[in-house]
Amino acid sequence: MRIANLIERDLEKFSRAESIDTGKPIALARSLDIPRAIANFRFFATAILHTESEAHITDNVAVNYTLRQPRGIAGLISPWNLPLYLLSWKIAPAIAVGNTAIAKPSELTPMTAYMLCEIVREARLPDGVLNVVHGTGPNVGAAITAHPKIGTISFTGGTVTGRKVAEACAPLFKKVSLELGGKNPNIIFADADLDAAIAGSVRSSFANQGQICLCGSRVFVERSAYDDFVERFIDKASQLKTADPLDENTEQGAIVNKPQLDKIKFYVDLAQKEGGKIALGGSAPKSPNERCRDGFFFQPTVITGLPVSCRTNREEIFGSRAHRVAERINTGTVWVNCWLLRDLRVPFGGMKQSGVGREGGEEALRFFTEPKNVCIAK
Ligand code: NAP
Repeated sequence: MRIANLIERDLEKFSRAESIDTGKPIALARSLDIPRAIANFRFFATAILHTESEAHITDNVAVNYTLRQPRGIAGLISPWNLPLYLLSWKIAPAIAVGNTAIAKPSELTPMTAYMLCEIVREARLPDGVLNVVHGTGPNVGAAITAHPKIGTISFTGGTVTGRKVAEACAPLFKKVSLELGGKNPNIIFADADLDAAIAGSVRSSFANQGQICLCGSRVFVERSAYDDFVERFIDKASQLKTADPLDENTEQGAIVNKPQLDKIKFYVDLAQKEGGKIALGGSAPKSPNERCRDGFFFQPTVITGLPVSCRTNREEIFGSRAHRVAERINTGTVWVNCWLLRDLRVPFGGMKQSGVGREGGEEALRFFTEPKNVCIAK
């Protein structure tokens, strides 16, 4: 709780650092990233006050009860798109249940993890409980996953890297949680409130410049509403303000680095080769000001007419009827009439190539503990 309070005290400093490191609008860092990091610490600090353990009476001759004990040293590896938000989502449950943590932020966005170290000292977390190690993935990340004394690995990042992490952990029988890439579709039915669906889809498509594993990077619209939806969606997306990330009114900031910008350009070219039509954007805008000269900006882009099975629609570029459809979709989360509406108690994670295991609430507390059955006979 002290860590959460101190981050909250320094909200402005953290928000500015996150915006500068990632290129995201400062207003987003202030309203989403840093408040969520604060909430992560508060959530797990209080969650451990309300846990239960199971007990079973066996044929009236014995009682079994389950202890959930810390697993020891946890290796925590996170990506650059939501730096402190995602790293604290791992650190908080790991240390709340009594583990020590070795945390590696992405080398592209290390600043807020560094600032967190100062905060945990001020909060008087005992030395050695949280250890932040900076360095690149192939160097420091691989050393963490290969280390025989780090028996628990919680990883969030791309699917290709996730496979390498799984390969490093398997021979050592480590407990692994993999939160990987996404290619999420928004599904718009014709009887939806189109104003709300368009506002929600624009937000879910372009928030954080589209660099969230949960972004709706595909939009499927029921045929009878398609033309109307596309026209109004493009109109709304074209009003997004791309500008200096430190400008208070900016809605679209910069892409995190040049390789990521090049990747986006590659897929925009590919989409056209695959038969898609650029309905909005498709290129870099001119720099918003002198400070951002040569910055990695890209216009919000809408591509229509692509077949479902093409690469642009399948590969991540950067992750009543509602119940019936929700039940039949193979995915970790279904949001109905909303997006990114998070309750930290619910299981969070992806299926198939989007991940293995779940984070959040009870799932996280279980992941970072080892169950032990104790059976006592009369
Ligand atoms: P990434 O390249 O896979 O990197 C993720 C983290 O792994 C970084 O800290 C990286 O270090 C490290 N790493 C790289 N190679 C490693 C190795 N061989 N062993 C151990 N660690 C290694 O992913 P990214 O490009 O930073 O992040 C974008 C991806 O994350 C997208 O696919 C996105 O969908 C996914 N994501 C998923 C979730 C989720 O909850 N499912 C949430 C957010 C993002 P360096 O960066 O320092 O090299």
